[in-house]
Amino acid sequence: MVELKRLGGVATCVLAAWTAAAAPVVFTDDDAQSAFDAAGAFVKACTPRHSGTLRGRLAANWLLDRASWCGADATLDSFRDKTPFGERQFCNVMIELPGTRTNGHWIVVMSHFDTPATAKQPCPGANDGASTSGLLIALADAINRTGPHPDSIALVWTDGEECCKAYAPDDGFHGSRHLVDYFRERGRSVKTAICLDMLGDKDLHIIVPANTTTVLKKLAQQAAEKAGLKDLLKVDESLVVTDDHSAFLSAGCPAINFIDFDYGPGNAWWHTPADTMDKVSKASLLSSGRLVAAFLNILLYGK
Ligand SMILES: [Zn+2]
Repeated sequence: MVELKRLGGVATCVLAAWTAAAAPVVFTDDDAQSAFDAAGAFVKACTPRHSGTLRGRLAANWLLDRASWCGADATLDSFRDKTPFGERQFCNVMIELPGTRTNGHWIVVMSHFDTPATAKQPCPGANDGASTSGLLIALADAINRTGPHPDSIALVWTDGEECCKAYAPDDGFHGSRHLVDYFRERGRSVKTAICLDMLGDKDLHIIVPANTTTVLKKLAQQAAEKAGLKDLLKVDESLVVTDDHSAFLSAGCPAINFIDFDYGPGNAWWHTPADTMDKVSKASLLSSGRLVAAFLNILLYGK
């Protein structure tokens, strides 16, 4: 009986830990404020932040510091890669949150943070780069405080998404291509790769493009419905978007892109000096965060 009692106590602790681990991800109003504030501070401190430059490295270090505020370890993953201008140094920022299952499945959530060197005039990248980088900071907090979750989750701020001359196999998407190798070298199975891009737009219309894994399109629609954001999300079978999720698709991993590629009249603010924080809203980041949280909960908990 004594032994049973002692075991009972342990079992209760284990059960409590398991119950805590099963908490779904919740993205709150405070998280949206945190995402918005982080995006604004990032633009202010780190513009421009072209990949392969000292200011790009500064931006990665800024994110390293800010991302670790959630209490989880953030790391820099530096690597060299070929570009049309020779070999350059790139730097992804990562938070890796191990799951409770031992099956080695990972969910990857990504946002690029760099600004486009190809823009004719300096582009602050408030929506394109900073908004989803801020969103990822807030998501890291939301995911970490409700975890550990069944699957392992990697949050990655990718460098070198923008091309330095023109998109080509050696120009653009350096961070996500490197990330695929990073997971492959560690023998990790990527259950789903999620790319977030330009989701802070005040006038938010989220697209899941045609080049997304079919089953994930359905799950995205379920997530939007669950989050009460059905009218905000459209699966556009006529639109193909090459983005950071593309490297995962090429590697045979399920991958999805959430993007609002309609920024200003006729996308006029994209890659221009007009991409400033006044075009970004906390309300849009709240909607985007709630959608991603709902999507993650379907992946993690099936509901
Ligand atoms: Zn861009």
